[in-house]
Amino acid sequence: MVPIIQVENARYRYGEEKKMAVDGVTLSVEKGEFVAVLGHNGSGKSTLAKLINALFLPTEGRVLVAGLDTAGKDNAWAVRRHCGMVFQNPDNQLVATVVEEDGAFGLENIGVPSDEIRRRVDEALDMVGMLSYARHAPHMLSGGQKQRVAIAGVLAMRPDVIVFDEATAMLDPSGRRDVMAIAQKLNREGITVVWITHFMREASLAGRVIVMDKGEIALEGSPVAVFEQVDRVRALGLDVPEMVDLAGRLREKGVPLPAGVMTVDEMVVELCRLK
Ligand code: ADP
Ligand code: MG
Repeated sequence: MVPIIQVENARYRYGEEKKMAVDGVTLSVEKGEFVAVLGHNGSGKSTLAKLINALFLPTEGRVLVAGLDTAGKDNAWAVRRHCGMVFQNPDNQLVATVVEEDGAFGLENIGVPSDEIRRRVDEALDMVGMLSYARHAPHMLSGGQKQRVAIAGVLAMRPDVIVFDEATAMLDPSGRRDVMAIAQKLNREGITVVWITHFMREASLAGRVIVMDKGEIALEGSPVAVFEQVDRVRALGLDVPEMVDLAGRLREKGVPLPAGVMTVDEMVVELCRLK
């Protein structure tokens, strides 16, 4: 099976900058995966996201989405239809004065007939739990609700992949949970998710974690495999999930916790198991 995203030794340099922002990344994502991308500020996450979405073309190497080379002639729009993107600030992504028009915008641009637009927008708003807000003004919504409308706008294009670039960073905890839960639901329904975040708890829920550093992939593996390398993760400028930290400190005090405790639920189960 062809991976849905293939990044082959990609490099990207902004203008005349000396340093490459993405510096030799090779990565492949299979259809249906939920991949979290971590890394301190400036490690190249957003640049990588834009390479995947054909907003940037690699200075060196190749990026393919659904088998399409992003640098191929006239491929950029097709790539963006396969791969939608949700950014940090929903205000930059919402353009219309009414929620439902926002979802329709991208479809009008690609010439979808109006009855089909109506159907797709309603379906997309329903998927993010915002159908009852279809006639509301986006600026009246909470940050989390706006982000859900932005996701609906992407969903209306029926993408295979959605790249979320710190989509929860500006939200309050409840908005954050809602948006993460929607990404997980979409993933269960078959959409491939690339989830860029600096919240370790979110990364711990992914199927695979990639840690970027200086434009390169520094660590990669299951959340358990990555976060067990506590010192390495910290050296890369990141925290480990709270429960991994707590489990480590309890082990130091002689509490025999097994490896791989990452969530509060897992911690409760393991503590209750101790005699
Ligand atoms: P992240 O999303 O992980 O914070 P970015 O991909 O935004 O990282 O940035 C990677 C590197 O590229 C950083 O060194 C950053 O300073 C640089 N960079 C980002 N945007 C630009 C730009 N528009 N012009 C020049 N350098 C940039
Ligand atoms: Mg960024």
